[in-house]
Amino acid sequence: MKARYPSSRLIVVSADGLRPDVYLRANELGLKIPNLRRLVSTGASAQAVTSVYPSTTYPAHATLVTGVLPREHGIYSHLASLDPTEKARPWSWFARAINVPTLWDVARASGRRSAGVGWPVSAGAAIDYNLPEIWNPALPDPHQDFETVARHSTPHLFEQVLKALGPLAPGAPKRPSQAAQALNPDRLRAEGALFLWQRYSPDLLLLHLVFYDHQAHHYGPLARESLAAVEQTDYEIGRMWDVAQEDGNVTLVVLSDHGFVPVSRDAAPLVVLLDEGLFTKKADGSLELKRLGAIHAGGSFAIYWLEEPKPDDRRRLEKAIRRLEASGAVAEIVDRGRLERLGADPDAELILEAAPDHYFSDRFRAPEVREAVEDRGTHGNLPSTPGLEAAFIAVGPGVAAGKKLGRIELAQVAPTLARLLGLPVGILASNAEPLDLS
Ligand SMILES: [Zn+2]
Repeated sequence: MKARYPSSRLIVVSADGLRPDVYLRANELGLKIPNLRRLVSTGASAQAVTSVYPSTTYPAHATLVTGVLPREHGIYSHLASLDPTEKARPWSWFARAINVPTLWDVARASGRRSAGVGWPVSAGAAIDYNLPEIWNPALPDPHQDFETVARHSTPHLFEQVLKALGPLAPGAPKRPSQAAQALNPDRLRAEGALFLWQRYSPDLLLLHLVFYDHQAHHYGPLARESLAAVEQTDYEIGRMWDVAQEDGNVTLVVLSDHGFVPVSRDAAPLVVLLDEGLFTKKADGSLELKRLGAIHAGGSFAIYWLEEPKPDDRRRLEKAIRRLEASGAVAEIVDRGRLERLGADPDAELILEAAPDHYFSDRFRAPEVREAVEDRGTHGNLPSTPGLEAAFIAVGPGVAAGKKLGRIELAQVAPTLARLLGLPVGILASNAEPLDLS
């Protein structure tokens, strides 16, 4: 069969949390994003991409590379631990937890080479040049933990990239003007990706940028600081586009995993669950798990029975949920039947959906609901929530200029990327329709 697209190499930039309205309403928002604007006018772009449930980074990124929903790929949450009393909870960093073939698996099976920088759930992946996203959760600043990244990268690759980046590298002496860069891990990630692209010429490059997500959590999705981060992201995208255009065979895809909604109230379901006796307090005051597990995900909160609950446990949980509903923090309760239809976590007993303006934290300390201290933006809610749409733009040979894709599904991305690379789409477990970009 003749290849649909003449392109044979692909750069994918995931700008974490980026909402499509940054390129749909750039003028109104006063955004200086020349690269994103030019990508939209010369490429194919989505009005909105429906994310997954929960609409969080790790489940969504696993969908981006597999084309299936969390229930099938097995990454249900950012956390790999269901125990909220655990001090430093590990995340779902390792690719071995993905139950189905990924794009990098298909690339390798087809004799193509891949590279990754900061891609979620890619530690230990079959990526030829891999600098995955991973850190020691016990450390205060994960983005400064380069030792753990180095240890889980392709052998010697992290050291090689550091040497090539010189003054940008962590630990290198910084001028005062560079201090701000320490706050922005994207500069380093983008330069690392450029180095891998130019040094090793992989067929597939996956890059994950995180600064917008960081700022949007802290300041809110459309705050001045967050929009400044969008402009910085646009700059990094421009750098990638420059190198993409050096070779006439490259497609550049810029996308995201979910959007963002503004919040001002911090709700703590664990306060109520503890109060109703669903956790035990030890003599030293520390907390211990009984039968209940929980994962906070901003706009949603998943509850698990880790052992068969006693009737009394069930009554306590029901009472806790009634209290949370009365507090105004809960919009709805997503039960097991609905979780199945959403392709979400098969192990959760239920997921609490946050009411507008609220997010769920992992606080055990009262009050149940308070004014938000740290966060002004969140995600994790049902993917149908307005504001939580993700972004998608593609530009390259065979992609129609100015094409509008309308509203698409996150699961359609992986088969589309496989087709752009000329890989056999059938190896993926996905049933989603690849997008027609031509
Ligand atoms: Zn994200």
